[in-house]
Amino acid sequence: MLKGRNAIVTGSTSGIGAGIATALAKEGVNVVLNGFGDAAEIEALRAGLAAAHGVQVRFDGADMTDPAAIERMVRDTEAAFGSVDVLVNNAGIQHVAPVDAFPLAQWDRIIAINLNSNFHTIRAALPGMKARGFGRIVNIASAHGLVASPFKSAYVAAKHGVVGLTKAVALEVARQSITCNAVCPGYVLTPLVEKQIDDQAKVHGIDRDAVVERVILEKQPSKRFVGIDEVAALTLFLCGDAAAGITGAAYSIDGGWCAQ
Ligand code: NAD
Repeated sequence: MLKGRNAIVTGSTSGIGAGIATALAKEGVNVVLNGFGDAAEIEALRAGLAAAHGVQVRFDGADMTDPAAIERMVRDTEAAFGSVDVLVNNAGIQHVAPVDAFPLAQWDRIIAINLNSNFHTIRAALPGMKARGFGRIVNIASAHGLVASPFKSAYVAAKHGVVGLTKAVALEVARQSITCNAVCPGYVLTPLVEKQIDDQAKVHGIDRDAVVERVILEKQPSKRFVGIDEVAALTLFLCGDAAAGITGAAYSIDGGWCAQ
């Protein structure tokens, strides 16, 4: 039963993370929202979820590049809610450039947010999960955790790292009713992808529709974006009782991308 559990969803002020936080709140889970954005919009999301679903919703602006802030967020959540039962590592960024021209600061930032933060949240949350004998960790990786594309070296390296970390953690806690799985979405229409569409339109000199059809969804056999609600539903399933036997897995939700 998820009702009454307590969750942290990193990067949940936007896109997939906001969708996952909403799905958890609907199930009666208390949620900590995290991420950047307009303060009034974040407060509207926080208050709206709490009012609509009768759960406690907190916001913590911990920067996922800052290990000390991550540790503090986990400790503050345990103090406020009593536990962290569900941890969804979702915060992520993208930068597209040839590997020999990849800006060093962007490389470091992508590895820090997309990979290292998962280690820091898990490291901080696991002792409590072990003590209580329950935990659900879901790492939002990507199709790029399983296969590569050119010009996304940092993102592909980070997401492959997330899938590896997922397996290692799963093995370490396999006998303690703690599961750790990765979700590997293909393209989902979120602000992260909207920015790529605009960037690609400029580079290729074509309009947005053409970018979506010829560049973005070129890899995705279904030729449609995966829905935020679909990624949220898979994540919710992995957090539930029916998924107790699933751990160390990397689930593709990519319209057939990785089947090719
Ligand atoms: P998004 O840009 O809509 O949301 C990213 C979230 O991360 C935001 O809440 C943002 O504030 C937060 N964030 C960014 N930097 C942060 C930092 N330093 N500290 C704390 N929070 C930070 O992106 P999205 O598309 O919803 O992506 C969510 C996750 O899904 C990412 O890990 C991404 O790699 C992954 N993913 C997305 C797609 C896609 O097509 N959109 C596909 C596969 C995987």
